[in-house]
Amino acid sequence: MKTIIIGGGPAGMMAAVSASDSGDSVILLEKNEKLGKKLFITGKGRCNVTNACEREEFFEHVISNPKFLYSAYSALDSKALMDFIEENKTPLKVERGNRVFPVSDHSYDIIDAFKRALKNRSVQIRLNTEVKEILTEETSKVTGVILKGGEKISADKVIIATGGFSYQSTGSTGDGYRFAEKAGHKTIPVKPALVPFETKEEWVKKLQGLSLKNVKLSLVNGGKILYTEQGEMLFTHFGISGPLVLSASSIYAGLKEYKEPHVLIDLKPALTDEETDKRLIRELEGGNRKELKNILNEIYPLKLAGIICGIAGIDPYKRCNEISAKERKAMLEVTKRLKITITGCRDFNEAIITHGGVSTKEINPKTMESKRISGLFFAGEVMDVDAFTGGFNLQIAFCTGYLAGKHVF
Ligand code: FAD
Repeated sequence: MKTIIIGGGPAGMMAAVSASDSGDSVILLEKNEKLGKKLFITGKGRCNVTNACEREEFFEHVISNPKFLYSAYSALDSKALMDFIEENKTPLKVERGNRVFPVSDHSYDIIDAFKRALKNRSVQIRLNTEVKEILTEETSKVTGVILKGGEKISADKVIIATGGFSYQSTGSTGDGYRFAEKAGHKTIPVKPALVPFETKEEWVKKLQGLSLKNVKLSLVNGGKILYTEQGEMLFTHFGISGPLVLSASSIYAGLKEYKEPHVLIDLKPALTDEETDKRLIRELEGGNRKELKNILNEIYPLKLAGIICGIAGIDPYKRCNEISAKERKAMLEVTKRLKITITGCRDFNEAIITHGGVSTKEINPKTMESKRISGLFFAGEVMDVDAFTGGFNLQIAFCTGYLAGKHVF
């Protein structure tokens, strides 16, 4: 039996490992000049390789089709993945939020672990080799692939592990969607996810570079709060970014309809409305005859103070003891529910992950085999699966790759 794996990213490399452990003759085809080009840039070059959380917590962090991943995660959970990487001579460490990194803080050590594992199993690796087409027999059984240049390689099994559509310079150019569609598979329209938001308000751009720590961000669509989390965000020249925004963008990507989408920022999440009002009263009384702008710096980051006055419609040069109750209430409203209107997302070049892809409905979750074409398998981001940041997306790539490889024999 011969298995071809298309794509030398995390899903493809892991699939190659488990397929050769199953006793198959394995060829790994990668169009780039090296393996794991995207893996190399993950985690800002440190590679957050998985998340050492409990099983339930893993599934809470998967956004699209968590149930589809039950068997894959059972076959290779984060502990098993960590053991595998460490057995291949790359020690790991667990950081805040159970995020797992190589001790060296270098993603290339993770890639090296896989290279070692592939070498030990004598997997045939062909770099600079782009697959153009998948061959099938009477549209029901896979028979091989055709490469760019015309060479034909026959195989009994083919695993598509070509990745998503983001950061295309790393090789993830969506080829797998084309292969799947040609084989009769349905694909869910792709959208950038884990990506910054572009926003409407002009004042947002004036805050470029300002980072807010410990704020609460809520994503609202059609008047409903769809996501709320506390943490960090950042203002940019086009809108907003940072961990809270990236997570919210993944929920946003999954929306079918956009009805006045916006975020609300709570600048004082530790205080209730009443407590925030008391704090404002205290500051204003203390400020007495001082100009409002001078005391606002005590409550808000310097750059934000003037903006808050503008949005609340208060003259920043007004004296504190002249601020009316109505004006104070307006300030309270802005402090607790600062509204930023979303006009869209940045594009795929800035998206950490792709939302959408090959529909999971036509893939057997226990084997990753196509329900349409016998011998055709899928692994990793090419499928309609995605998760929040924290090592969850790589865990998905590795465990689905592992499961697919295990079932090719
Ligand atoms: P890919 O890694 O995209 O690999 C697919 C491979 O297939 C590529 O090498 C490509 O060249 C090859 N290929 C495509 N088409 C063909 C073809 N026709 N013929 C031959 N080869 C082909 N996730 C985390 O969990 N932790 C992180 O720290 C993290 N950081 C990230 C940082 C950035 C900047 C980005 C962009 C993503 C990050 N991710 C992270 C997400 C993670 O990298 C992806 O989810 C993961 O790489 C998907 O793995 P994959 O094997 O499915 O696809």
